[in-house]
Order: sequence, then structure tokens, then C-alpha cells
Amino acid sequence: MSYITDIPHFDGVLAPGVKLPAPAKRMIEFLGRVVSAASAVKPGQATVTDIACMKGTGKKGCQGAAEFVVVADKIKWRFSGCSNDGVISN
Ligand SMILES: [Zn+2]
Repeated sequence: MSYITDIPHFDGVLAPGVKLPAPAKRMIEFLGRVVSAASAVKPGQATVTDIACMKGTGKKGCQGAAEFVVVADKIKWRFSGCSNDGVISN
């Protein structure tokens, strides 16, 4: 599954008191981790992280970790253990 996200849309959604479904919250937290990791690497440099898949890492979950590359103002990410991938802009 591919996720195309525009980070400013998430401003404030994790503020205290805001109720979100757990999967949405996991997704947003995941994206936040990728964005902060990506801010520390050079554009074009593929980076493997230890960020766990938002599917979870249990028996039925995904054993993969996130990989990403920063291209221009976008972050392309994917997991080594499943078909989840996406692009984060801004
Ligand atoms: Zn996965």
C-alpha cells in the first residue's frame, strides 16, 4: 500500500485531547519519526532506519524496518518487510 502524505496536514493532530483511531495515530507517529530522521541526512542518501513498521512487529506483523531517501523536498520511504511505501512532501 502506498501512502502519499503532506506533513502540514498533521499539524496539531497529536495535541493532547485529540482523539484519533489507533492506526491513524501509529501512522502519524511513524511519519514523524521518518521526517525527523530524514532531517539529519543528505538529499539522495538512502538511509536504513530501525523505525518499525506501523503494521506492528508481532507474529502477523512485519519484521521490516523503514528505509528512506530524501529527493528534493520529498521523502520517499518503504519497508523492507512488506509492501508499505509512500512519499512525504514538505
Ligand atoms: Zn511492514
